Amino acid sequence: MRVGIIGAGQLGQMLGFAARDLDIECGFLDPSPAPPARACGEVIQKPFDDIDALRELAANCDVITYEFENVPVEALQQLQESMPIYPPVDALRQAQDRLLEKQLFEALAIPLPGYHAIDSYDDCRAAADKLGLPMVIKTRRLGYDGKGQFVVRAPDELEAAWQSLGPQALIAEQWVKFDMEVSAIGVRDPQGNIRTYDLTRNVHRDGILRTSRAPLDAGGLQQTASTYMRNLLQHLDYVGVLALELFVCGDQLLANEFAPRVHNSGHWTIEGAATSQFENHVRAVTGLPLGDTRCLGHAGMVNLIGEIPERVRSLGSGHLHDYGKTPRPGRKLGHISVVHETPAGRDALLREIDDIVT
Ligand code: AMP
Repeated sequence: MRVGIIGAGQLGQMLGFAARDLDIECGFLDPSPAPPARACGEVIQKPFDDIDALRELAANCDVITYEFENVPVEALQQLQESMPIYPPVDALRQAQDRLLEKQLFEALAIPLPGYHAIDSYDDCRAAADKLGLPMVIKTRRLGYDGKGQFVVRAPDELEAAWQSLGPQALIAEQWVKFDMEVSAIGVRDPQGNIRTYDLTRNVHRDGILRTSRAPLDAGGLQQTASTYMRNLLQHLDYVGVLALELFVCGDQLLANEFAPRVHNSGHWTIEGAATSQFENHVRAVTGLPLGDTRCLGHAGMVNLIGEIPERVRSLGSGHLHDYGKTPRPGRKLGHISVVHETPAGRDALLREIDDIVT
């Protein structure tokens, strides 16, 4: 069995390590010169929209999957005529466009913040009238880690928002005063079996994920999130891991976005769950039985962004994952996971690490 993975970044690397443990080979496609997943298999160094390169990847593989979202759907639609692509290309198509994503949440009765599609400056004004201020305007496509976003706090900022993001398809969202951000991670196999991980609490800084921790003492929210996850996975006839990002507002969950792939907020599952998200994704797309998603204690993760401080390498606790990338401001270079018997012990370890990396 050989899996073709589009993208050879750190997610590809961690998928590759998980596949190797299952005695499954991987090949990758990625245009960058020295991507992290080169440690796990051959990388075809060509663009993602090069249909011949995709065919070259597919030629030696039994199934194709992807580790990031900006893969051209048209190229995958051509490729799927000759081989299975998981997660389904249609799930990717909907995740790539924030408007389609929101319409999907609505169709599945998953609550979400108010929104308004924007194609002109007049639409910006209409959005402000409808949603009130503050609101956030985002590009409909190709946004990540908070990029392509503008928070409008006063009417006189509307012009600047349109100048900065337009003219292109945009979407305005109500600004949510959330209590916290969480993500639900689930996995579905081709037979329709589903497993879900415990909810993860996420803290972002400057739009980039900083820390995650799980499990969460979430009461009924866990059940609600699992129901939303199951509905999404079943509706999309999904195969693989899916991550759903949610805002917690009191006893309500509001959907922000979903990612049709393994997710940064699930890195803790490598050491902190019986089966990691990476192994379960490989299992799902290759038709192996899904593994147990139970937490093994109280887990946490800190992203290492921009640099990996020397002191982090000599810490007595935690599992350091260095992706082998060249340091650059704002770049995710690695992460550290911790697992402890108690939430307080886990949080103390996270604080110790956070103090070093800030
Ligand atoms: P996104 O790229 O949509 O995940 O946004 C990145 C981060 O910006 C989120 O994780 C939130 O911290 C914040 N954010 C995005 N949309 C909203 C919103 N409608 N209300 C409040 N905060 C938001």
